[in-house]
Amino acid sequence: MLNKKSVDDINVKGQKVLVRCDFNVPLQDGKITDENRLVAALPTIKKLVQDGGRVILCSHLGKPKGQPLPEMSLAPVAARLTELLGQEVKFAADPEVVGANAKLAVESMKDGDIVLLENTRYRAEETKNEDAFSKDLGSLADVFVNDAFGTAHRAHCSNVGVTKFVKTNVVGYLMQKEIDFLGNAVEHPERPFVAILGGAKVSSKISVIENLLDKVDVLIVGGGMSYTFSKAMGGSVGKSLLEEDYCDYALKMMKKAEEKGVKFLLPVDNVVADDFDNDANSQVVKAGCIPDGWEGLDIGPETAKLFADAVKDAKTVVWNGPMGCFEMPNFAVGTEVVAKALADTDAVTIIGGGDSAAAVNILGYGDKMTHISTGGGASLEFLEGKELPGVAAADDK
Ligand code: AMP
Repeated sequence: MLNKKSVDDINVKGQKVLVRCDFNVPLQDGKITDENRLVAALPTIKKLVQDGGRVILCSHLGKPKGQPLPEMSLAPVAARLTELLGQEVKFAADPEVVGANAKLAVESMKDGDIVLLENTRYRAEETKNEDAFSKDLGSLADVFVNDAFGTAHRAHCSNVGVTKFVKTNVVGYLMQKEIDFLGNAVEHPERPFVAILGGAKVSSKISVIENLLDKVDVLIVGGGMSYTFSKAMGGSVGKSLLEEDYCDYALKMMKKAEEKGVKFLLPVDNVVADDFDNDANSQVVKAGCIPDGWEGLDIGPETAKLFADAVKDAKTVVWNGPMGCFEMPNFAVGTEVVAKALADTDAVTIIGGGDSAAAVNILGYGDKMTHISTGGGASLEFLEGKELPGVAAADDK
């Protein structure tokens, strides 16, 4: 059980609190085009301000690769946070991130003030987790709060290195929620526990399949990766996505499922198209019977019903990866049926980050899920059963 200290376990009155947020927002001509990540960070920031902390925010933005590129400055984030919080968020413009200007801004803070540092990736040491920058960051604060789940699978200065130089290290509310759901709910699920995996490649989800097979009651595989399983069982998959090298692995996983008494569900039919195009000719065919020149771009209607039925009585459902090419409306039906089934069940529903999170939100079921992870790579590594450096670095309770 992951039991990390959080912002609820400390007293920050009069303390300098460095908070690692995920302000990696899309910018167009200096304007923020999606502010979800800023809004998501507000509860932790408000809590620390209310408790009388001196709140120093930091984050990376894009990939400036150690260069102070003006187009990746966090200045627009400070301006928008000021509006969202109704309180000044002072921007500490500083090409060194923790240079003279940032230090001055921090020294002038009073209890309840907020300062935002410049993009942590302006420093080349950041992504190498080198002590020089970790020490600089640590020198600013008494307490470190990590609330950036999206980078938790990476060991960088601003989420891991810094913890060596600060006495108290805790997680924020966003991180806590990810730990509760992706960590603890998956480790100690209410049963039946169903996992649904999809997306393009088997090869990118090998460790996820293996780890989940030790935990779930039902494993469902759809999406592009299902054709490798279909081929492995001797089916014809036309020109569908296929990883021939993984056919043996697919069979091994099916055998493992059988040995463990895990129900393993694969598509029984597919929507196939004669081109990778929304307007291509399409038809529904039985799984493993895809004609030459055609490719599977979605699960078929029988499969969608089979998968939806499988989650009806579940108590915990984890979903990672779309059931088809949901970006093309004509091949989004299978993904939508599964999303709706999750929305309708009483189970705890946990959506891995990245494409499945995007699909659920685009299809309008976002608010019906128990938890939608904010980190693509990080949520996948959690589901692989790996220890995330950004989580491990926080103090245990
Ligand atoms: P992943 O990042 O592995 O979760 O894969 C997500 C991508 O897989 C999405 O962009 C989907 O369009 C794509 N995908 C899902 N099913 C298929 C399919 N049957 N054929 C091709 N691509 C697919």
